[in-house]
Amino acid sequence: MAETGGRAGEPNATGVEAASAPERSQASGCMPFEDCVAGIKSALKNPTVRFLRERMEKAGCPMPLGMITAKNCGTADKNGSYGSAEGIMVCCEEMRYQDEISQLLIHELVHAYDDCVVKNMDWKNCAHHACSEIRANHLSGDCHYKRELLRGFMKIRGHEQECVKRRALMSLRNNPHCSETAAKDAVEAVWSICYNDTRPFDRAP
Ligand SMILES: [Zn+2]
Repeated sequence: MAETGGRAGEPNATGVEAASAPERSQASGCMPFEDCVAGIKSALKNPTVRFLRERMEKAGCPMPLGMITAKNCGTADKNGSYGSAEGIMVCCEEMRYQDEISQLLIHELVHAYDDCVVKNMDWKNCAHHACSEIRANHLSGDCHYKRELLRGFMKIRGHEQECVKRRALMSLRNNPHCSETAAKDAVEAVWSICYNDTRPFDRAP
């Protein structure tokens, strides 16, 4: 089992770390750890989660259940992560609702899918990582308006794209190989290609 490092400034030997940044607008408590573990099990029945796992299997990179683990990550910097060696980690201390777990799994599965199908995927490359964050935040529904309302971000038109950008930049902050400026440039440079790349979905679910 790979070790659980991979925080910013602590380069991961396996080279891959696509952390998901948490955003909180409410100070409500997380769910108990056992509920989080049970929540991961239920999330595996989510149709979008199932679809992504099926597609990964077809693409030759099955995501075994043992590669999806519940943890207390002990850091406020992320609520989950994906690494090619360690798989998907759900930071249970950040989870409050079932929905959050399903959404996180979808987000991290998009990273895993990219790791599988993108040739020479290099997480140390800001543009590669930015592209995957744009896709993960777009396709997981992280920016659906209901989710944004819960976070206290209330805007009108165009907010979905702004939200995807904001969250992609936040995740890139966990990448020690991407400075703030490099991250912003990367997001702008790959934006339209990656926002419009909804694979393996026909369109954003
Ligand atoms: Zn991410």
